Amino acid sequence: MNEFDTFLLRQLEEIDQAGLRRSLRVLESAQGAEVRVAGRALLNFSSNDYLGLANHPALARAAREALETFGTGSGASRLICGTARPHEDLEKALARFKNAAAALSFSTGYAAALGTIPAVVGSDDVIILDKLCHASLVDGARLSGAVLRVFPHNHIEKLKSHLEWARREHPGARVLVMAESVYSMDGDLAPLADIVGLKEHYGAWLMVDEAHGVGVLGARGQGLADLLGLADRIEIQMGTLGKALGSAGAYVCGSALLRDYLINRSRSFIYSTAPPPYVAAAARAAVELLETAEGQERVTGLRANIRQFAEESGCESPTAIFPIVIGDEREAVNAAAALLEQGYLVPAIRYPTVSRGSARLRVVVSAAHSPEQISALARTLQELD
Ligand SMILES: *Cc1c(COP(=O)(O)O)cnc(C)c1O
Repeated sequence: MNEFDTFLLRQLEEIDQAGLRRSLRVLESAQGAEVRVAGRALLNFSSNDYLGLANHPALARAAREALETFGTGSGASRLICGTARPHEDLEKALARFKNAAAALSFSTGYAAALGTIPAVVGSDDVIILDKLCHASLVDGARLSGAVLRVFPHNHIEKLKSHLEWARREHPGARVLVMAESVYSMDGDLAPLADIVGLKEHYGAWLMVDEAHGVGVLGARGQGLADLLGLADRIEIQMGTLGKALGSAGAYVCGSALLRDYLINRSRSFIYSTAPPPYVAAAARAAVELLETAEGQERVTGLRANIRQFAEESGCESPTAIFPIVIGDEREAVNAAAALLEQGYLVPAIRYPTVSRGSARLRVVVSAAHSPEQISALARTLQELD
């Protein structure tokens, strides 16, 4: 074995010994309440497809139509060879849905974070972020070169003292606060009204990632900022298209100036080939579906399923994400394996996605689940206890 392979093997052995080895599981079906793995039907409680739109006929139809007209590839970055109509249409639909002046779409949420954060702050500036912010936000913050300060999860007092510190120690700096509306591995909400109040008091800017809020919270699923009437006080709202919106990609929305500025300064937007137009068409169909009675039913159906699972399992969550914290990494893996044995796909989430010693099962309830499927999982979880 050569030196490089020896290196890789040693690293993998270390990961394995810590109970942190990951591997891929091949799905033989579309996303949905039920999926097929190795010829076996499993009840799927792992996906972020909260509204069951990832395999919805309206999205597939929109994608097929765009595929016929625009083909499979975008050819280049949107600035190089023209932006396909579906991307523009998607952004108009997103801006309307989010009640924002403008939106800009990205190929992924990861790319949106990496492209947006370093565009608005640099090495003379300060970023203050919640400890549980997603890796994409952390990586975007690091890439910006700004001085980073982390506050304990949802700890408003600590955010306040960091803001005071930033104003005192970095008087001329731009200060960007970053939070999620719904935390991806905990399912809890940010105290968004308090955060908005504080950042305004200290003259800071705020970026909120609604990856798990869109489609789940708000009258029509517009997210937490909209639900609380705070949207127009948040400088940068981000969300993803690959979760509740059943497609792929992400968006940043806010002012028309923000969109224009990102088109000029966001490196992940400028230096990356545009996503295929049919992907944007599917996402737009999802946004439009949320504005119909059927979309409304899905959002309220999801809420009913969340309530049912909470009642029957004894777990609590204000969102579709129910973390069942086990602690030990190997025990969490064993619990996930036991569930798999019984026909449930529920992932064990481990370090570094969550902190060491806080491994957990992450149950995600979707609008696509039937009441029987939800009861079955709740019952099985209690039997495993
Ligand atoms: C999934 C996720 C992202 C990344 O979005 P992708 O489109 O999957 O790259 C960003 N932020 C949060 C909070 C997420 O959960």
